[in-house]
Formats: sequence, C-alpha cells, structure tokens
Amino acid sequence: MDSKEFREFGKAAVDFIADYIDNIRERDVLPSVTPGYLFDLLPNQIPESPEKWEDILADISRTIMPGLTHWQSPNMHAYYPTATSFPSIVGEMISSGLGVIGFSWICSPACTELEVVVMDWLAKFLNLPTEFLHSSEGPGGGVIQGSASESVLVAVLAAREQAVKRIQATHPDLSESEIRGRLMAYSGDQSNSCIEKACVLAAVPYRLLPAGDDLVLHGDALQQAVNEDKAKGLFPIICIATLGTTGTCAYDDVEGLGKVCKSENIWLHVDAAYAGAAFALSEYSELLRGLEFVDSLNFNLHKFLLVNFDCCAMWLRDANNVSDSFNVDRIYLKHKYEGKSQIPDYRHWQISLGRRFRALKVWITCRSIGAEGLRAHVRKHIELAKQFEEFVLNDERFEIVAKRALGLVCFRLKGDNNLTTSLLDRLMDRKKVYLIQAKYRDTHFLRFVICGYKTEEKDVEFAWNEIREQADLVLESLNVNKLREMLEEPSVKTSDIGQITENLSLLMSGDPEKSK
Ligand SMILES: *Cc1c(COP(=O)(O)O)cnc(C)c1O
Repeated sequence: MDSKEFREFGKAAVDFIADYIDNIRERDVLPSVTPGYLFDLLPNQIPESPEKWEDILADISRTIMPGLTHWQSPNMHAYYPTATSFPSIVGEMISSGLGVIGFSWICSPACTELEVVVMDWLAKFLNLPTEFLHSSEGPGGGVIQGSASESVLVAVLAAREQAVKRIQATHPDLSESEIRGRLMAYSGDQSNSCIEKACVLAAVPYRLLPAGDDLVLHGDALQQAVNEDKAKGLFPIICIATLGTTGTCAYDDVEGLGKVCKSENIWLHVDAAYAGAAFALSEYSELLRGLEFVDSLNFNLHKFLLVNFDCCAMWLRDANNVSDSFNVDRIYLKHKYEGKSQIPDYRHWQISLGRRFRALKVWITCRSIGAEGLRAHVRKHIELAKQFEEFVLNDERFEIVAKRALGLVCFRLKGDNNLTTSLLDRLMDRKKVYLIQAKYRDTHFLRFVICGYKTEEKDVEFAWNEIREQADLVLESLNVNKLREMLEEPSVKTSDIGQITENLSLLMSGDPEKSK
C-alpha cells in the first residue's frame, strides 16, 4: 500500500466510523451470531497475494459488524461505560501514525513530556491533592497505564518491594524469603476482580474484607484484620480501597482506611476506575475526603472521560517507590539526561518496556471538549441515570436495591430472584438493550448503567419501555403458573374452579389487566 492508497483507505475508514456512530441506534445492541460464526466466514490462511482495500472494508461490514456488541450504542447499559469520542479516535490515529515508542525521554521527548503535562492537567481537573502533581515540589506524579488492572498490579508490586526493604532493616533475624512469605494485602469483598488478580500475579496473599451493610469497607474492618494478622506474625503491606465498586458503585471509607494505613505503615491504593470522574464535580467534593492518606490512585479515562481504551491515569504520591522497585537498567537504556531533571523515564513506572503515545489522545480530547464539556458529559450521565431511577420508583412492581450512584441504578423486580433472572433472560433474547445481573448476599438485581457516547433521554425511555414490557410478560407467566398449580391442588374447591379457569384463559389470551 502506498501513501496514495493509504489516503483513500484512511478517508474511507473515517467515513465508515462516522456513519457507524451516526446510525448506531438502528442496530440491536447485542449480536445474533452463534459461537464460531466467524471461522466459517474467513479463509484459514493469509491470502497469498495482496487484496484491495475496498474488498477488505466491504468484508468488515459483511463479516465483522454482525459479530459486534455495540458498546457505543445508547442501548448499552451493561458493565461500566467504555468511552470514546471523535477527538480521541483522531488521537489514536495520529499516535499510531507517528509510530513512536516512549520508554525513555530520548526515545521521543514529546511522548514523555506531553504525558507529564496532561497528567498534571488531569490532576488539577480532578481536584487531587497537589502532592500528586509533577509540578509540585515533591516526588509525586502521574503516568498513563493501560488499565486499572495494570495500575493495581504496579501498586501491589511497589508496595511489596518497599515493604520487603523496610522489614529487612527492622527484622535482621528474618531471611528475605521468610519476609516475602509473610506479606498480606487487603481489599473489600466488593472490589473488582482485578485486585485479586494483581495479588495472585504479585504472589502476595490477600484478604477480601467484608463490607458493611452499606456495602462500604470501613477502617474498623481493616484494623481488625491487621491486628489478627500481626498477631500471627504476618506483615500487612497494602490496602486497596475502591471508590465506585463494580457491583453497586459504593464508595469505601477512604478516610477511615487511610487513618489505619497511616498508623500501621500500610500502602493505601485507591481504585476509582469509574467513579474518579466525579472528583471533577464540585457537588461530589465529599469523594475527595481522605485522599491526603493515599499513596497511589487510578482512574480510567477510558471509562468515564471520553478517551478511548486503553487509558488509565495513575498517580503516585512518591513515584520513587515505584521506579526504585522496578529499575533494572541495562547499558543500552542509558541516556545522558537520565536522572538529571524532573523528567521521568516512564519505563520504570510500568510493567512493559515499550509504551504507547497515549498522552496524545488525552491532550486532543481535553482540548477539543474542554474542562466544561468534560464535566457536562459526566453530569449528563448522572442526569440520565436519575431519569431511569424515577421510572423504577414509579412502578410499584420494582424496587431499587442500592442507592443510585453516578450513572448506575441497581434495581430488581420485587419478590423471588427468579423473576429478575427471567426478566434478564427475556431482555437478552430480544437484544434491544443490554444489562447485566449482579448479586449481593442472596439478592439478585440488575445494573442499569448509562454507557453510550451519545445516550439521550429518549434512549432511557426506550430502555425502560422495553424493560417494563418484558416485566409484564414475566409476571403474567408467573400468574399462569400459579393458577395452574391452584387447579392441581387436591384441596381446590369445586366452586372456585370456574373462576380460576376463567382467569387462566384471560391470562393466556394476553390481557392481564382483566384477570384479578
Ligand atoms: C472496570 C473496573 C476495573 C477494571 O478496569 P480495567 O481498566 O479493565 O482493568 C477495576 N476496578 C473497578 C472499580 C472497575 O470499575
């Protein structure tokens, strides 16, 4: 492909993306394909001769599009959002067009320096403590990781290495392997699975502490666990708190946990993958409480701030704790400006050596949308979730399970869990809206999240109508089953059989209003 052809293909691809986003409402949010559908549509080896881009683009429509779950659809209400925006898409394009890798400053000074700039922009935008800024006096700063999972892993690894060094100094009687065998990490039982994964990968045993009835992890639960473990000769090293848990978007008590961590010399990491966006809103300033105790924090711009995957902002109070833990330099990585200024060599802050120029899409998105626009986006999601919450509250067949938080509403059909599960099954079969189920203790519920790039009031109304109509059918078939059971009861009174049969036939004919 020469540059002339690239221009044609590239421009056609931009049109393709714009058409996709403009017309996304016309598609069912869930695909109708069955597993393995694509294997039958594609050849089983690389074509021997080059193919025309027009044919490739046509094949995307023919073979790929039917197999997509449309995350940017306004009818996507599952998980948490995965962000995108036109400026961010352009940022990805230019970044891959430049094709640079920025693991050290000299490998592309702009790649490192723009990241320093945008991480400070974001820290200010989110009202974080000034210690997290590169431009502050201290050793703090921000870095863009690929995901929340990577950020948590980096925090656990750094906390582990720092703790081992510290314990070696205070416990000369213990060998390094004895120390490593006695470490302990903590998180809440509502935290994301990536926290368990990070601890497994880092070979640090962990405890998932029970959240209170408010679904929040409190300081006293941590203090109790730490006391128990210290009595067993273990060394508590890190607590990972969550602001915006995955199930119900609950906010752990960072201040309470922070006080315990401070007095016990435990690293405190905050996973604010989704809810971190709310730091930017003055009406949510209480979420910032306790951040003065935090050693590291992550927030996914790719969830809630219009930058596409992958883009997780991570801040460190003392970046040396990470870079010292990971620094394994080789002679070929050295350069003459190393360590001479405030400029980080980001390879020491992350798992891989190579790193993408992600700062570009952040910069382009922030400039194109502006701080005001970014805040408006978060507020819009919150408003739409409130609209949905109102619908639920006004239908007495439903109940709200946990307090609405940001763009998430947790709700269920009153009564047996089976009702909620059947409702979800029906919705999944119809593919018009996509929600997922969650469970707390023994209660099953559905999570309704505002996700799409351009979700509007009419889309929330559409989703509610779909949910309501399917709930009618679930409850109707429940009544049919009940009446059938009544007829089969040995104790059924002959005088009642007529009425029951009549109700049953009314229900079966699909007019539930008439049968009572
Ligand atoms: C989504 C989410 C994660 C996982 O994010 P990745 O970037 O995909 O690793 C972690 N924690 C919380 C609270 C989340 O909501």
